[in-house]
Amino acid sequence: WTSDTVAVVTGANRGIGFEIARQLALHGLTVILTARETSVGEEAVKVSQERGLTVVFHQLDVVDPSSIEAFAKWTKEIYGGINILVNNAGVNFNFGSDNSVEFAEKVIATNYFGTKNMIKAMIPLMRPSASGARIVNVSSRLGRLNGRRNRIGNIDLRKKLEDDESLSEELIDQTMNTFLEQVKDGSWKDGGWPQVFTDYSLSKLAVNTYTRLIARKFSERPEGQKIYINCCCPGWVKTAMTDWAGHTSPEEGADTAVWLALLPDQLISGRFFGERREINF
Ligand code: NDP
Repeated sequence: WTSDTVAVVTGANRGIGFEIARQLALHGLTVILTARETSVGEEAVKVSQERGLTVVFHQLDVVDPSSIEAFAKWTKEIYGGINILVNNAGVNFNFGSDNSVEFAEKVIATNYFGTKNMIKAMIPLMRPSASGARIVNVSSRLGRLNGRRNRIGNIDLRKKLEDDESLSEELIDQTMNTFLEQVKDGSWKDGGWPQVFTDYSLSKLAVNTYTRLIARKFSERPEGQKIYINCCCPGWVKTAMTDWAGHTSPEEGADTAVWLALLPDQLISGRFFGERREINF
């Protein structure tokens, strides 16, 4: 890898995102570390720059369309395009205040719609290359369609989301919007939604199903224009999100995302990984 390879990491001022940015830079890439707060993003960049890594900062709030637009414009002007996008930014408020309207809206808007809107904004900037451009979505095992503990109770909906023929962007969006409507009118508890971390699990289910969907669309692109997209679970990681209660370090949590971003001849797309091994959706 050389500094001509440009990678973007969202929510990279701390936690797993910071580590993904650092590890990509250690491989010799140019990394654009993004954060919604400029001051903390600039501090994070300094830490890596002081170690001689090529890491630059740009502000990016994934729930703010004007911020995404400004970021895309800047990136095109400065770099012409990018090779790698890692969608890491995420929120979770499931510590005692499950599914208030405000929290549920923020979680779905950030984790799913933010990720999707970043992908859409970055597609025109993804540089064609022999080994393809890459997108990695940092997701969670909690978003598995068929997880034993946490799956959607509505079998018809689950089957539709599972089946590539019936899966569509509209179906994913509609599923999120139906859930949010039920949170607003108070009926969500009887809606057959995942039992724990409900809004967060659904947001990651949406990320996973969108990854599968867009991977199929990308596979139709001609050789030399390919974009490979996969998602991964970092494990249960000691970061602010888990109140530092996880099993593993952010370094270990970042590993699979970095591995997927840098696979040498990447023919893998539309899959889900944890600890560098494939996981069933
Ligand atoms: P942290 O809370 O430490 O980091 C989350 C990052 O996302 C922060 O940089 C945060 O910025 C950023 N972020 C939140 N909202 C936005 C936004 N609107 N725009 C841009 N950035 C935003 O959590 P982790 O490092 O643990 O989480 C990273 C990813 O890993 C998330 O997607 C999470 O869901 C996923 N994950 C984590 C697990 C774990 O055990 N930790 C388990 C499974 C998945 P700010 O500092 O401004 O809040």
